[in-house]
Amino acid sequence: MIPLTISMNERDNVAIVANDGGLAAGTTLSSGLTLKEHVPQGHKVALVDLGINAPVIRYGIPIGYAAQAIPAGSWVSEMLLKMPDARELDNLPIATVKPAPQAPLEGYTFEGYRNADGSVGTRNILAITTTVQCVSGVVDYAVQRIKAELLPKYPNVDDVVGIEHTYGCGVAIDAEGADIPIRTLRNISLNPNFGGEVMVVSLGCEKLQPNRLLPPGSIPIKDQRGSDEALDVVCLQDDEHVGFMSMIDSIMDSAKVHLEKLNARRRETVPASELVVGVQCGGSDAFSGVTANPAVGFCTDLLVRAGASVMFSEVTEVRDGIDQLTSRATTPEVAQAMIDEMAWYDAYLKRGKVDRSANTTPGNKKGGLSNIVEKAMGSIIKSGTSPISGVLSPGNKLKQKGLIFAATPASDFICGTLQLAAGMNLHVFTTGRGTPYGLAAVPVIKVATRTDLARRWSDLMDINAGKIADGTATIEDIGWEMFHLMLEVASGRKKTFAEQWKLHNAISLFNPAPVT
Ligand code: CA
Repeated sequence: MIPLTISMNERDNVAIVANDGGLAAGTTLSSGLTLKEHVPQGHKVALVDLGINAPVIRYGIPIGYAAQAIPAGSWVSEMLLKMPDARELDNLPIATVKPAPQAPLEGYTFEGYRNADGSVGTRNILAITTTVQCVSGVVDYAVQRIKAELLPKYPNVDDVVGIEHTYGCGVAIDAEGADIPIRTLRNISLNPNFGGEVMVVSLGCEKLQPNRLLPPGSIPIKDQRGSDEALDVVCLQDDEHVGFMSMIDSIMDSAKVHLEKLNARRRETVPASELVVGVQCGGSDAFSGVTANPAVGFCTDLLVRAGASVMFSEVTEVRDGIDQLTSRATTPEVAQAMIDEMAWYDAYLKRGKVDRSANTTPGNKKGGLSNIVEKAMGSIIKSGTSPISGVLSPGNKLKQKGLIFAATPASDFICGTLQLAAGMNLHVFTTGRGTPYGLAAVPVIKVATRTDLARRWSDLMDINAGKIADGTATIEDIGWEMFHLMLEVASGRKKTFAEQWKLHNAISLFNPAPVT
């Protein structure tokens, strides 16, 4: 076995061990350095003698300070690192980096479903929106019946999903922040994969009334009755419903009308610029920032060059790189919008008497990520090198192309839910420790950071970016592989493993407001 270590920047004074199982004490690296102790895979080895309080540099920046003297060749474990404070949000570099314009990437297309509002779907799905958790059991029952009895009659429709959630009642609906879960639900109902066919199941007495969820004019596509005023609602408490089966019949009758229209949709050739991609990472390890995330970053640049929209998110995982982001903003307004989102999130965390360091998990640390600074540097790479042209607040719908910072929590399911609301039609998810994450509404392409994970989870991981650490592929190779796979998946020619196994995580609304 050839000992392999990886540095990310010429200034780095630590490197991570790439070999499966780590490297034993006494191993001599190609540089001539001999390991003083066993260093696990993904963990850091000191390349030089580090004095007490010396900066430990990875990605070219201090990810922490040595809590004690660390001789060269030692394992730099999380216990030996003191974490730096978060960068203040004032005096940041604003729109200072002007990346050289990259040549447009032309000629790439996919087969998508063009909607009346101009958006493009990658799947053809009937969504049943719910106003409140109380109706979930009934909707679930109806969805099973629709799948068994109706879907076979509408072969062009891929699936039917209930948009179930825990919001809608027992909440302080007028509180500050309550607009976030409400607009999230509204915009999810309008996701391009649902073709503008909005149907709602309501209980009747709940706080979130259908007209508050989807006010007149909120559905851009005229519905089947030729009016954009009429919202299709099945209300379970209506007098007309005598018994459970009457409710199910009403939902199924309503579903038929929408299935008829969805079934008439046809894929057509559209430019790659119609992709709206959300990128995310979860279950990260030290390889996330070395293999999978840099490959996503390369692919992000390809997508931006192709004129597509790409969202990167996860506030606590980019907070420590705020200066990199504000400097890449296209305008001072975009930089300020990012600062505003970070300040809001700092205050939100402070209410719970925590800060961004609450982010890292036991699995992150076991995988070699010592703290949130190191994790953030590896996470931010997903955004590539393109200028950042917009900022989206949680739950809002994306209305522009290019690279967008969509401010969301880093929580996998909440981030995915908010990216769905933004209008995402394709999702890319990188993982090091491994997660079977998937969404019902949008295909999720999962990328493994390590060959070991890709091997063990060969029927869950769509791409193996571990080849980059093995030296058998470059970041560019995997980035292009991802780009081509995206077009195949978007066209419906390929299914992701999460789709094949129907692995669907629940919609998880971000509700920063109180419940009652
Ligand atoms: Ca995440």
